[in-house]
Amino acid sequence: MIHCDIIVIGAGPGGYETAARAAANGLDAIIVERDQPGGTCLNRGCIPTKALCRSAEVAVTVREAFDYGVSTSGFTLDYAAACARRDAVVGELRQGVVTLLGGVRTVVGEARFTGERTVAVGDEVFTAPMVVIATGSCPAPLRAEGSELAVDSDRVLEMDRLPAEITIVGGGVIGMEFASIFAAFGSKVSVLEYCQEILPPFDREIAKRLRMAMKRRGVDVTVQASVSRISKADDGRMSVDYVSKGKERTIVTDMVVSAVGRRPVLPEGLDKAGVELTERGFIWVDGSMQTSAPGVYAIGDVNGLCMLAHAAAAQGRVVLGERVDLDVMPSAVFTMPECAMVGLTEQQCADNGTEYVAATATFRSNGKAVATGDAEGLVKVIVGKTDRRILGCHICGQHASDLIQEVAVAMVADVDSSRFAAVVHGHPTLSECVAAAVEKTDKAARGS
Ligand code: NAD
Repeated sequence: MIHCDIIVIGAGPGGYETAARAAANGLDAIIVERDQPGGTCLNRGCIPTKALCRSAEVAVTVREAFDYGVSTSGFTLDYAAACARRDAVVGELRQGVVTLLGGVRTVVGEARFTGERTVAVGDEVFTAPMVVIATGSCPAPLRAEGSELAVDSDRVLEMDRLPAEITIVGGGVIGMEFASIFAAFGSKVSVLEYCQEILPPFDREIAKRLRMAMKRRGVDVTVQASVSRISKADDGRMSVDYVSKGKERTIVTDMVVSAVGRRPVLPEGLDKAGVELTERGFIWVDGSMQTSAPGVYAIGDVNGLCMLAHAAAAQGRVVLGERVDLDVMPSAVFTMPECAMVGLTEQQCADNGTEYVAATATFRSNGKAVATGDAEGLVKVIVGKTDRRILGCHICGQHASDLIQEVAVAMVADVDSSRFAAVVHGHPTLSECVAAAVEKTDKAARGS
């Protein structure tokens, strides 16, 4: 039996950040990983898709270059080359993770619990006062007849060719990011989303804006669509049967992608460790990320609290006793245009009876946005009706993922809308748009 201070299971962003921080704090740390370091984020998620998003952006820029006074004498889109670049990016960053884990003993293999705070990997058994489960998630299966014909996000990222017509089931974050990439590379893309609007956790107005922007780029999105069956025809093409607003419809396509959510990856032996699950099958944790077993923690996708890489890393910091504001969790969708949010939506405020005021500012009235030729966008700010505390911000538009961060800082620092509106924003910058939305909301709250 090998004794150490902390065992981390899973080397995704939650696991590797936690193990590296623990080692930096002087703890004797062991990390167990059965696959490549980096987890879903680096190997099959955020990073490869962001590399492809960038290729998609370049494709659109070159296609529209003439509008900016730049003539191109013909160009070709080479998805295989974009994938080679994607793989190089992943390889470089994976090396970075290996370096980061320099002070941590890495054990390659499948970890299983054999008892309280005791983990076996092959023939080796490890024990520590702290065990952190950071085993992540995998694509959830599509519940429809013939769903085995659909490819999931892991398999899509292994392909280096795109068919002419692609149907994506699920208009969530993964579905919309893929739709944006595939459309830019010339595929005809259809999205079938079950809910009333794409990106269900996002502000409705922002999600609708994205849907309209994607439509202008040729992506056909059907909401309130329930997929019942996928079948293959003799010519190799596929039919997707679905019901939308009471009508039965069929799309004929070359490839079906399933992007209908993710489910936890649970290590074996949780019962032996005394770790209990929630009704939804995730690992139950308390506010300090401790499971029902003292000394055993679960962070990231596996606890189902917030399926974002940065949330996993932040939860790991909580396990190590650091102060982190988990309540203010920015998130972004890397579509064209991007969407980002932090805090509450109007719907959530209405549902929990919070009195609020909301106002918007458009990118169309922002000098930088118009000058860059990409003025499609909106910022919505929500503040408390009486205390003018910033409750949420929702953005659709270029660089939304970066712009949202300023509001996250203001929320953590408890800067109200009046104080925020007093901050000078540089000109010409997109951040003026955020400032304009805050000022409008502040005025509306004062007048209400
Ligand atoms: P998701 O939950 O965001 O979206 C799944 C979508 O599929 C939902 O809109 C849902 O209504 C729809 N759906 C479910 N079953 C369906 C059906 N049978 N027919 C049609 N539509 C159906 O899940 P995801 O997009 O798979 O992403 C998984 C997780 O990974 C999310 O929590 C997401 O936040 C995270 N993620 C984040 C990023 C990012 O931060 N940029 C990127 C990728 C994934």
